[in-house]
Amino acid sequence: MTEFDFIRKYLQNQQQDHQVVLGIGDDAAIVRPQAGCDLCFSSDMLLKNKHFFEGVAPEDLAWKVLAVNISDIAAMGAKPKWALLSAGLPELDEDWLRRFCNSLFDLAQRFGVTLIGGDTTRGDLVFNVTIIGELPQGQALQRDAAKVGDDIWVSGKIGLAASALNCVLKQCDLPSEIFQQCEAELLRPMPRVALGQAILNVAHAAQDVSDGLAQDIGHILAASNVGAEIWADEVPTLPSLKAVLPREQWLQYTLAGGDDYELVFTAPHNYREALLAAAQKSDTPITRIGKITDTGRLKVVNSVSDGTEIALTSLGFDHFG
Ligand code: ADP
Ligand code: MG
Repeated sequence: MTEFDFIRKYLQNQQQDHQVVLGIGDDAAIVRPQAGCDLCFSSDMLLKNKHFFEGVAPEDLAWKVLAVNISDIAAMGAKPKWALLSAGLPELDEDWLRRFCNSLFDLAQRFGVTLIGGDTTRGDLVFNVTIIGELPQGQALQRDAAKVGDDIWVSGKIGLAASALNCVLKQCDLPSEIFQQCEAELLRPMPRVALGQAILNVAHAAQDVSDGLAQDIGHILAASNVGAEIWADEVPTLPSLKAVLPREQWLQYTLAGGDDYELVFTAPHNYREALLAAAQKSDTPITRIGKITDTGRLKVVNSVSDGTEIALTSLGFDHFG
């Protein structure tokens, strides 16, 4: 199979999107945004042995490559629309590529994303997706919009992916049933697109949790020039995971592990009911885990009633840290 066979056979037969003026096959794609909308752009790269292990199932790899990008668009409160995929592949293995593409287009279709271009070169296994989303003009959920007194909320459960990864890396032991539940989150995160759009006009600042909850909250604090208090025991988790891990480890994986692809966001306290309704409408559980303060720093304590500060060995993942 040649590069062009691959493009024709696997990439070009997608569902029509009336906003795609020109799709895969020309020098560049053309899309037409809807009137009154802003476009938002993001890009995320996945490298072998950094973001995935050699030998990962192509279905899982494709899912994660696209899901982490969709998650960035979700965190802006936008609707994901178009993606470009650049791939370095050591060879064109047709069976592997078919499985990869089936999973990629499965996820793309669930969220109404059209693949409109990319690049394919021979090389070490690497993927980069550029994704474009659309949202009502001027309404994006930016990191710089948190206000002192805001509640801090997080979606879903945190720390499962990091626990699975640490188990694979032999840093902790998990019973197989718990490991499998955690591994599913590591391999196939589900981006919180519906929630992101449901909290537009209600939430102040938002971001997705990719590199560790504490570090990612830290980005909101720095951009908004505020501080925060987080109650560790309020952070939503898998109860059996919390029961089986030593507390130190559970805290580290939950507060600083990363790879969760949940949304963390802030909102005024008088919007609590509106937020819970938005969460229900989007079928996504949310939990209040702290508040924005004027201290200029992040303070993680055990609970609302036990203000003992927790010292984390690291706040999250940093490629150059
Ligand atoms: P060019 O030489 O202009 O870069 P290519 O021959 O690389 O064009 O690609 C032909 C078409 O196929 C282009 O529309 C490009 O966007 C698309 N394409 C190539 N690789 C991929 C890929 N991995 N995913 C999606 N589209 C791709
Ligand atoms: Mg090219």
